[in-house]
Parts: sequence; structure tokens; C-alpha cells
Amino acid sequence: MLHGRELATFRKRLLGWFRQFRRDLPWRRTEDPYRIWLSEIMLQQTRVAAAIPYYERFLERFPDIQTLAAAPQGEVLRFWSGLGYYSRARNLQKAAQRIVAKHGGQFPTRADDVLALPGIGNYTAAAILSIAFGEKHAVLDGNVARVLARLGAIRGDLRESQTWKELQKNANAYLHPKVPGDWNQAMMELGATLCTPKSPQCLLCPVSQFCEGRKLGIAECLPEKRKKRATVEVTLAAAIFADENNRTILLPPPVHAKERASADHVPTLVSKMWHFPTVSVNGDPATKLRACLRELVRGQGDENLRLAPSGKVRHAVTYRDITILPFRIHVKKLPRIKGAQQVPLRDISILPVSNLTRKVAHAALAAAAHLSD
Ligand code: SF4
Repeated sequence: MLHGRELATFRKRLLGWFRQFRRDLPWRRTEDPYRIWLSEIMLQQTRVAAAIPYYERFLERFPDIQTLAAAPQGEVLRFWSGLGYYSRARNLQKAAQRIVAKHGGQFPTRADDVLALPGIGNYTAAAILSIAFGEKHAVLDGNVARVLARLGAIRGDLRESQTWKELQKNANAYLHPKVPGDWNQAMMELGATLCTPKSPQCLLCPVSQFCEGRKLGIAECLPEKRKKRATVEVTLAAAIFADENNRTILLPPPVHAKERASADHVPTLVSKMWHFPTVSVNGDPATKLRACLRELVRGQGDENLRLAPSGKVRHAVTYRDITILPFRIHVKKLPRIKGAQQVPLRDISILPVSNLTRKVAHAALAAAAHLSD
């Protein structure tokens, strides 16, 4: 740990570097807590470059907390569509509604109130409070933890509770009390641009003289690898109905999705959004899918549907490695299924759909184009 003059120099060097080299990002041009909050949520699972266009489009449609709170959930998800991890968008809207109901539409400034909002944990709360309101809260996420582990040559699994506490203590001790928002962003920027997971650029680092990991020659090996959860293989079969106008059917977002889902829980895998009729399979996919469809279209004439295999789609969600087998089903008239909507197969994104569903639609279209060549 650094103290006294060393700590002062460390802070000065990092802040000086940040002010000179910081990337010009849209959420750095504002002190509006809503905008900072939105950026933090988007960046949780998305790279900066990928997040920027979504961030700008989202703010054009939902420029403030009130607009977001009042919007139909389907529309919020549609503007999130493509970013994945849709619980982030659902929680964002729930939190906006709570801010309107409990805080008069003003983003709260007390840490307890911020932490009580859905989807906001310690890291996000600290980021918003420090950047928007200048409150003294040090951020700690995987990115900052990596920097701190290297600076202090801290070994072991960083997510282990004692180690995480030690890292938070270090982060608090380093925090610049006068400019906590800039300080937090400087730590994040160092982790994002120089102290990256692979090949940290220590020669360019403004605080390399304080880095124990570099001095010991172990910076690149830190943080030490965590045990990875074993990958689970999941196979799904999906039905892509297509009528003569190339319209298809999507089922609505599942309402009663389980909180703790099994690896092949279809509502979880389609991100609780609009989706093709889909089943999890471990035997013959066409047989299982046909049985499911029979239930769905019961009493509507021909239940002997002809399923044409349409390629194979691969998709990964957390620890799941998913193979989806799309089956195209040509029909004169699309069956009526309770709650389902008919949409053009080429334009299914007019409803909020997940990346998995979009990939399935592409595969079905590509297979049809291949057949007609
Ligand atoms: S010297 Fe290297 S390892 Fe240490 S903080 Fe800087 S970039 Fe990271």
C-alpha cells in the first residue's frame, strides 16, 4: 500500500495521464446521472465501441428517466435488442419507474437509495455517485481489480471474498478525495487501455514505478486464473413457419420464467423475448419439435407438418454452448397461436428479439436462398 508522498505522486501521475489521454466518450461529456447510469449498465457486458451507437439511439428515444419509466417494456427491449443480457434493460426501466414513484423523478443521491434500485450493485452505485455527484465512493469491478492486483502483486482468485475485500480497501485508500469521479474514471481507463488483461503496456504506464507486479516480473500472470465453470452443451430445435408472403410466427416473451433455470431452459435461452417455437432436444430433434407443434396448432387442420432442416446455428450464453437446429415449415396459411404475432421473416426485429432468435432467422433465410439458387 502507498502512503504519504508516494501516494500523492501516484495520484498526481495517474490523474495527469488521464486528463491528457482520456478517450472522448459520449458519457464523459455529461454530469447527468441518468446518462452516466445508462452508460455503466450498457458497458457491463458490452465493449465501448459496440455500446456507443446503442447508447445514442437509446437516449434519442428515452432522453430522461420519466420517458423511460413511461415507455412500453417491449419498446425498451427493442432499443436494447442486439446488446444481449436483457435483464439489464428490464431492471433499468424498473429502476426508472421506482425513481419516478419514490424520488420525484430525480436520481437519488444517497448510496442506500441508489443501491435499492433494481440492477444497481456496489460498482454501478459508486460510479454514478462519484462521477455525477462527486461523492467519495471507489469503484471496484473486474477491470479495476486487475489493475489493483497488479499494482499490489495480489495473488489468488480475486473474486474470493477476503481478497475482494482487500481490493476494495486498496481502492478506497487510493481514491482521490477531491476528484473521486475523475479518479474512478482514471482507474477504469488505465485498465481499459494500458493495463489490459493480456500484454499490459507497462512501458507507457504512468504509474509503473509504483507497480509491484511489474517489479516482480509477474504483471502478465496477474490476476491468476479462476476455475472456469464447465461448459454445458445444449441443443435446441426451432420452428420457422413461412407462408407464401414469407411471414412467420413468433411466440411472446414467456411470462412465468423460472428464477433459477436449468441449462436448457428455453425462456432463459431466448432471453425472455419474442422467439420462434423452440424446444430443447436430446433425441431426434424433428420428432420432439413436431410433438410440441402439434400441441400449439391443435385443431387447425393439417397437424402433419413437414419440417425442412435449415442448417445449424451456434450461440454461446455464459457457460452454455448452444446448437440450434432451425426447421423451416412452409404453410399456405400461418396457424393461429394464442399470443403469437405474425411478422415478416426478413424483419423479425420489429419485435424485441434476442441475438439467438435473429441468428435462427438468418439461417432459415440463407437455407431458403440456397435452395432457390
Ligand atoms: S505497470 Fe503494467 S501492470 Fe503495473 S499498473 Fe501499469 S500497466 Fe499495469
